[in-house]
Formats: sequence, structure tokens, C-alpha cells
Amino acid sequence: MKIRMRSLILRCAAGAVIIAGVCVMPFFNMQEPVSVMVPRFPAAGPVLRKDVVHAVMPGETLFRLGKMYDVKLEDIMARNQLSASDVLKMGQKILVPGAAALNDVIPLFPSRKWKYIIIHHSATEDDDALSLYALHQRRGWDSTGYDFLIDNGTKGTVAGHVDATPRWIAQKNGAHCKASGMNTKAIGICLIGNFSLEECPEVQLMALVRLIKYLMEYYDIPAGNIMGHGQVPEANTECPGKLFPWNKFRKMLAAETAADLQF
Ligand SMILES: [Zn+2]
Repeated sequence: MKIRMRSLILRCAAGAVIIAGVCVMPFFNMQEPVSVMVPRFPAAGPVLRKDVVHAVMPGETLFRLGKMYDVKLEDIMARNQLSASDVLKMGQKILVPGAAALNDVIPLFPSRKWKYIIIHHSATEDDDALSLYALHQRRGWDSTGYDFLIDNGTKGTVAGHVDATPRWIAQKNGAHCKASGMNTKAIGICLIGNFSLEECPEVQLMALVRLIKYLMEYYDIPAGNIMGHGQVPEANTECPGKLFPWNKFRKMLAAETAADLQF
């Protein structure tokens, strides 16, 4: 299964999107070169649809919104009087007509750069992609420091939803772990929450495992190169928090990937 998934991804040329294992191309208003959509809730019954008002997070495009909610771009544009060339503004409210349950859209870009995955927590209780972006800009960074965020349900987010940040979309170096030069070679994933004070919710842990599984397979990252921020040599931090459930995480990831996790 692992091999099949990887070869399927590699067979898809730039501009393709994999939806439930099917390679579809080309896409109108394509702005993200290679993507994998991971349904949060595999369709086990009829899909319930409703109109949703979505606040645009950093880096989100009309294309991505269409994939997240399984709605045609033309329908979103028509309801919001937008054209294909319009660039969405952060925080802009978009009416998504007939939206399905929110899907994660995980863009994957061919690269030999990514050798490690570093897990962080935000060390805050209430945040979303927009507030973290603003916080990191105030620190003088050009964008969110991390590559991916996993929401915890605060600020109107859906717990367990994965956000790809503008930094990841642009494939820039990270701003999440200076120690051991990790910013140039590690994908930074931040779980919203403070796991020094509270336990990591199951739904976020499941989303983390699923995201890491895709990244490991696509970038050939060995299990030994997945670590918490505080486990990076020379890093002086307890991130992702002293309550982060390492044993449970290892078991879940091993079950997903059949990897021999010795870390
Ligand atoms: Zn950290």
C-alpha cells in the first residue's frame, strides 16, 4: 500500500491533484503544483452539504478552498462575485455554497531538501493560522515560522484540520528550529495548544500521524529523523510540551507506516 501510494504520487505530473487516490488534471486557477487531498472523514454515507462562511487563512487560494470544501471554483466565484485572477485577502470572509465537511489539502512539492520532521506546539491555548501568522510577523519573520499547523478547534477552527502555511507553499527555509541547522532541512509541524499544561487531544494526534505518514512517504524521511523540537541536538526547549504523548504517537505512527520506530 505504501509503495502503491508513492508511485501514484510520482506518476502525477506538476499541476495534478490526487483526490482519493485518483489523479486528476489539469485544474483551473492552479496555484499549487502537486497536492494530496486527505479526506478527514472517509465517505461512509451520504455527504451532508451546507453553506459555510470561511475566513481566509494565510496562503489560501480559491483553488484550495474549492478542494477543502469539495465545491467547484466557479460556484464559489459566482456567489462571491470574484474572478479567477482575484487574490484572496487574509481574514476575508468567503461564502462557500454547498460545502462538504472540511477536508485537509496537503500540497506536496518535489524536493530533495526535506530530510527531517520537527514537531512543535504553539504553547498557546487559542490560536489559528491567522493569529500565528500575525504573531510571527510581529517577531520580524516574513511568514508563519512553521510549514504546517494542526488546529485545536479554537478561534472557530475545526480541531484536527491541517493548514499548509505560506512558508510551505513557497518552499522557503523554516523559522522554527535554529538548532542543528534544522531550518534548512526540516519540515516544521506545529500543533496548536500548550502540551506543557494539557494533554494533546486525540483528534490532533491522529491528524499529526496522518500528515507525517504522507510526508515520510513522499520525501523518503526515515522514522529516526522525526523528532520533537526539544529532542533536536543543541535545542534548549521542552517543546512540544512535557505532556506530549510520545509512546502513543510512536505506536500510532508505527501502525500507519509499518515503520520500525526507534527514536
Ligand atoms: Zn518548538
